[in-house]
Amino acid sequence: MVLRKTFSTLATQPQLQAAAQKYGLQLGAQHIVGGTNISEAIERVQALNVQHIDATLNYLGEFVTDEQQAVEAKDAICAVIDHIVEANAQAHISVKLTQLGLLLDVDFCYDNVRDIVEHAATQNVFVTIDAENENTLAITLDIVEELQKVFDNVGTVVQAYLHDAPKIAERFQSSRIRIVKGAYNENESAVLKEPLHIDIQYVELIEFHLLHGTFTSIATHDDNIIDHVKRFVAEHSIPTNKFEFQMLYGFRKELQQHLAREGYNVCAYVPFGEDWYGYYMRRLAERPKNMSLVTKQLFTKKTNTALAIAASAFILGRLTKRK
Ligand SMILES: Cc1cc2nc3c(=O)[nH]c(=O)nc-3n(C[C@H](O)[C@H](O)[C@H](O)COP(=O)(O)OP(=O)(O)OC[C@H]3O[C@@H](n4cnc5c(N)ncnc54)[C@H](O)[C@@H]3O)c2cc1C
Repeated sequence: MVLRKTFSTLATQPQLQAAAQKYGLQLGAQHIVGGTNISEAIERVQALNVQHIDATLNYLGEFVTDEQQAVEAKDAICAVIDHIVEANAQAHISVKLTQLGLLLDVDFCYDNVRDIVEHAATQNVFVTIDAENENTLAITLDIVEELQKVFDNVGTVVQAYLHDAPKIAERFQSSRIRIVKGAYNENESAVLKEPLHIDIQYVELIEFHLLHGTFTSIATHDDNIIDHVKRFVAEHSIPTNKFEFQMLYGFRKELQQHLAREGYNVCAYVPFGEDWYGYYMRRLAERPKNMSLVTKQLFTKKTNTALAIAASAFILGRLTKRK
């Protein structure tokens, strides 16, 4: 819990973020980020496709507070769509509305995301609108609903930790959705806190959407959940073209390949771009064991988590001071 809070706090430190951008994909981030530009990202996607793993590409960026930056992000995401099509890659895109100006003005953000979804529709590319923190969720879901009145190539994410998750799943029952446990450090009034309670609700949501929904993306690295889904789809004769397993790029690579070899649809979430710091810190926050990505870079011998955290904090601190 302390580690989760530490990394969640680090994720929002602007000085550390600036230092991280300046010094590139250091501290192990290159293992879980698909490069800093679209060419590198497409290469990673093609390598995944060879293993029969699809990708959802995310041009990194969030909590944008400058209109120009939001418009640049929109243009970059439209270019990602073109690159997917040119490369004939098995991929779709995931976008965050706070990257497209949600914190500035809702109509401005809507226009930006609409342009993206419209462009994607002409190229037959699907768009998932990621679920972000609870403050932005209600308006995000309203925007998705508005877009779905016009386009059928857009869906969103249901976070199982939310008390309201079953209602959200029902609301988006008729569209393709991704179901996750939930990644943000939220207040107890909004989310379940007990991992067991989250897991129970997560399984209920997955089962509901597998039985009543269209296409379900089950986004987890959790063996227990994955094994449960395998049994559930077998018992209910749910065909493999109705669902996929999604995992983050660089995580549980062998499991991803194994599932693909077993004949399941597998999709890796491939984030790329310069703005990787917040994403990386969130991954460390939700699973401090991911610190091994850092320690593998820094130490040849096995080391303990406390030492690793001290080392990374020291290095991040140095990077900040050097700026
Ligand atoms: C494709 C994808 C998209 C996502 N999109 C969103 C989003 O839009 N919004 C959002 O809030 N969150 C999103 N998330 C994050 C998600 O909410 C969780 O925070 C994250 O996936 C961690 O939960 P978990 O289900 O993987 O399992 P956890 O609860 O983290 O772990 C459960 C168990 O799984 C195993 N495990 C987990 N990770 C590993 C690993 N790296 N190596 C080995 N074993 C492991 C361990 O046994 C662990 O005890 C996304 C996740 C994925 C995979």
